[in-house]
Amino acid sequence: MADWSISHPRARKAHRCEMCRRVIGAGEVYKRGAGFDGTAWSWKECLHCEAVLRIYGLGDGEYNADSFEDWASDGDARDLSEARDMAGFRKQWRTKAGNLWPLPAPESPATSGGES
Ligand SMILES: [Zn+2]
Repeated sequence: MADWSISHPRARKAHRCEMCRRVIGAGEVYKRGAGFDGTAWSWKECLHCEAVLRIYGLGDGEYNADSFEDWASDGDARDLSEARDMAGFRKQWRTKAGNLWPLPAPESPATSGGES
C-alpha cells in the first residue's frame, strides 16, 4: 500500500503545477504530495487545481493531468460557475493581464446575480 502525505508549503522558488502546467510563483502557497511505495515520489499542484479537484471530484481519488484535461475539454459544464472554472484551467488561471484568477469557489459568487 502506498504511503503518502499532503502538505501546503509556501513556495521558496518557482514551481510548476503538474495539472495545469502553470508556474507557481515564489511566495505562493501550493499543494505538495509526497509518498513512498518502493520508490519516493512527489507532485506539486496549484491551489486552483486543488479547488477544482475538491469541487468537481475529478478522478475518484486517483487523478492526473489527464483527468483535468478531460474535465476542462468535454464542454459539459453543469452551470456557469463550472464553465468559468473550465475556462480558467485552460488559461492556466491567468487573466490576459497576467494576474491570477480568484480561486474556484463551490458556490456561485454573489456578483453573478442579475436578479434584484
Ligand atoms: Zn494548477
